[in-house]
Amino acid sequence: MECTHCKINIDNKILEENLCVCPECGTHLRMEPAQRLAYLVDKDSFLELYKNLKSANPIEMEGYEEKISAAQEKTNMSDAVITGYCTIEKRPALIALMSFAFMGGSMGSVVGEKISRLMLTGAAEALPVIIYATSGGARMQEGLFSLMQMAKTSSAAAEMDKAGIPLFIMLCDPVTGGVTASFAMLGDLICAEPGALIGFAGPRVIEGTIRQKLPEGFQRSEFQLQKGFVDCIVPRKEQRAFFVKMIDAHMQSVPSYPVKREILFDLKNKETHEQRKPEGENGKR
Ligand SMILES: [Zn+2]
Repeated sequence: MECTHCKINIDNKILEENLCVCPECGTHLRMEPAQRLAYLVDKDSFLELYKNLKSANPIEMEGYEEKISAAQEKTNMSDAVITGYCTIEKRPALIALMSFAFMGGSMGSVVGEKISRLMLTGAAEALPVIIYATSGGARMQEGLFSLMQMAKTSSAAAEMDKAGIPLFIMLCDPVTGGVTASFAMLGDLICAEPGALIGFAGPRVIEGTIRQKLPEGFQRSEFQLQKGFVDCIVPRKEQRAFFVKMIDAHMQSVPSYPVKREILFDLKNKETHEQRKPEGENGKR
């Protein structure tokens, strides 16, 4: 694979060992959810939740079903996010990982529903939630249904806040549009990978609108850290240890959490919970 920044050719095996970070220039190249899980969570601890949610075609957009099928085939995912339960160094957590390769990581009803359910489960079960966000924004093929996900995910984030359970966001290259404008900016801690593009409208659109030259590094993680949109930048190799530290620090005040470490998450209950809510099956909520 070629590095998008310094253009050197990197051997796939070396790239994998290096967590998709260019060994030459340190650029954090795009990484798929499965690769991230393999590094981040304890071996065999990931249990996928809400995987039965499938996208409908609510505004009957022509060619949408075909686009979904092609993306599913390409990424081996059912939609642009996977959600589930895991442990990180034996600490239980809920995790969502988005894929930019699936229709630009766009948020339609399924993405919004899965992320909302994960946050509500976090609030109800007193489990911290980690979201790896990468997205071009709302999915235009679902029109208003996609835009509604912004309100839905935001209100789920508010429930976590009420319950006093932390929401950790990791912004990955790129994250823009309706995802930036909703849950991705509502974390208790907003982290970013180095060099990620983070914004609402992209730099080209802004430059065209204000007719001014934008400063160097505009909308990159380091720029957004300086401007206060991002709390910290965490290189990929340090992310696992980082979340361990953050979970320990933030879950200290949740009395039921240390107990949960000993007991496995009640997965059977979770499955019944899912079956009881068939109205979400078509992503039409
Ligand atoms: Zn490079």
